[in-house]
Amino acid sequence: RRVVDRLASARCPTFSVEFFPPRDEADEAVLWRSIRELEPLDPAYISITYGAGGSSREGTIRNIARVATDTTLVPMAHLTAVNHSVAELRNVIGHFAAVGVRNILALRGDPPGDPMGEWVPHPQGLTYAEELVRLVRELGDFCVGVSAFPYGHPRSVDLETDTKYLVRKLKAGADFAIAQLFFEAEDFLRLRDRVAAAGSDALILPGIMPLTTPRTWRKTVELSGATPPRWLSERLEPLVDDPKAFRAEGLDTITELCERLLAEGVPELHFYTFNRSKATRELVDRLGLRSPRAEPAAVGS
Ligand code: FAD
Repeated sequence: RRVVDRLASARCPTFSVEFFPPRDEADEAVLWRSIRELEPLDPAYISITYGAGGSSREGTIRNIARVATDTTLVPMAHLTAVNHSVAELRNVIGHFAAVGVRNILALRGDPPGDPMGEWVPHPQGLTYAEELVRLVRELGDFCVGVSAFPYGHPRSVDLETDTKYLVRKLKAGADFAIAQLFFEAEDFLRLRDRVAAAGSDALILPGIMPLTTPRTWRKTVELSGATPPRWLSERLEPLVDDPKAFRAEGLDTITELCERLLAEGVPELHFYTFNRSKATRELVDRLGLRSPRAEPAAVGS
């Protein structure tokens, strides 16, 4: 089952979830409890990120295969070009196909250790996500996603250049893009407009972090690569020492953001989970998000 087909057939707003590979057995049990808790909600897909090294990469490959074989969920594997020769990438992609993973998020990745350090490609490897998109496409009937950056990728010189390369990557054969974290709906909508104006009609989906703790807030600021707007910092910062109040306010701000995106016709929200399911389930419920297979809710019900 391909992500874009599921989204195209959805009759009401839906959602997806992102996990990372577990570090140990206890972590893996937590991950699987969350996956099982989300399974009845039938998200459009669930994805597992791809790390920089051996055991973490094995964790992605093993767990995404298990999602494909042991659950009713639609799996998407993240894959990066970091430290991989093309032969190794072919192997991993072939393995995904063999276990029934038909959706791949194709990424360049960052240099291990320092994300802003010098990018040194593997001598027999790839340099840009665009090349990985082509490779995945060449190897089979995959649905391919890519990343997009509402404020521009940290290495991009300006938004125009960033958009140019994003559109090239989409035109190389990607079916959709998932946007990095952002603070205000307008930031995402401007990205969507830039891509459309540059001649691509690919679907762009927003990445959403449920703001449950000061840690998720700090992570959002770090990943966005931008300075949060003052109004948002003023709502959250005074609460960083009060976990309950922070969670309530954080989830309220995210609910408001998601409502605005849905009002602008965004068909699907991609939630970061930190391998837990509670906050996502709460948001799904608040926002009335449904399985792509669900009938639209009757008016007045
Ligand atoms: P690219 O699209 O290759 O872009 C990298 C830089 O090169 C950009 O500045 C771009 O503008 C520029 N560029 C692109 N093409 C060209 C060209 N032809 N000539 C010159 N410049 C060019 N990282 C992980 O390690 N594992 C994950 O699982 C993971 N998942 C992610 C999921 C999402 C939704 C997002 C948004 C990011 C994720 N990342 C992940 C982070 C990502 O790997 C980094 O942000 C990385 O720095 C960029 O990857 P990319 O695929 O966007 O690279």
